[in-house]
Amino acid sequence: MSDIILSSEEKLSNPKKTIETIKKYNFNFQKRFGQNFLIDSHVIDKIIKAADIKKTDTVIEIGPGIGTMTQYLAESAGKVFAVEIDEKLLPILADTLSPYDNVTVINKDILKTDIESLAGPGVVVKIVANLPYYITTPIIMGLFENHVPAESITVMVQKEVADRMAASPGTKDYGALSLAVQYYADTYLAANVPPNCFMPRPGVESAVIRLTRHKEMKVRVSDEKKMFKLIRASFGERRKTLANGIKNSPELSYSREEVEKALTDMGLDTRVRGETLSLLQFAELSERLR
Ligand code: SAM
Repeated sequence: MSDIILSSEEKLSNPKKTIETIKKYNFNFQKRFGQNFLIDSHVIDKIIKAADIKKTDTVIEIGPGIGTMTQYLAESAGKVFAVEIDEKLLPILADTLSPYDNVTVINKDILKTDIESLAGPGVVVKIVANLPYYITTPIIMGLFENHVPAESITVMVQKEVADRMAASPGTKDYGALSLAVQYYADTYLAANVPPNCFMPRPGVESAVIRLTRHKEMKVRVSDEKKMFKLIRASFGERRKTLANGIKNSPELSYSREEVEKALTDMGLDTRVRGETLSLLQFAELSERLR
């Protein structure tokens, strides 16, 4: 943890400080990198609290921008590794993070970064980010599927995406993303965040969600890939039955009869739709469809 504590006036979460910094470096926001910087200290406090950052923690921040949240992370965590794709931000980060000796900035694409080798062998990290919304799903699923040693992922995402991640069966937001995320983690919606907390303002509402990795997997399947193919097929055609979706999937080769038999054996109606099945039921279906 850094000994330096900047006042909230001095931090970049003060909109005046952000404007001053942007002007000083003549920085142009890049839409293609999803650059919407936070300018609200209360929101950052909520993220730090939801992530439960302790002074012994190693934190990976995805996309530090000009270092707004990084300043808070440096003051509450043991070590911070901040991975930023935009090299134009490097001189700014060198300046705004200069008071801290526990932050390392890495100029890389997070999708091509080996987090385990960054943090060191055996180190379990906490991941924190105000994510670039254009690649939210590949980032989150990449972290889970590559078994990155992270105990939690606390992120700002589009509100609609947070709602889908946390959705329960039978609700309008429930789908393949809910099942994929909940297979790996428990979800906790920590805050809703309006557009005026960012510069520039995004065109959508945002939310902070914490994903806490299951210590023990809640659902076990012999073939994860097959279960996810079944899930994708079941939600591929929203208004169709699950049996039709699976029969028509280019990724799978089961007949309608095989799917209907498995559903009947599970005590389910053959016309059931994907959105009513729980993760456990998808796992059972996957085991029955050999
Ligand atoms: N954390 C800062 C904040 O809250 O003010 C900036 C958040 S902004 C929504 C997203 C950041 O992610 C930008 O700095 C952007 O350049 C960076 N970024 C975009 N794509 C990235 C990628 N593939 N790998 C790493 N950083 C990326």
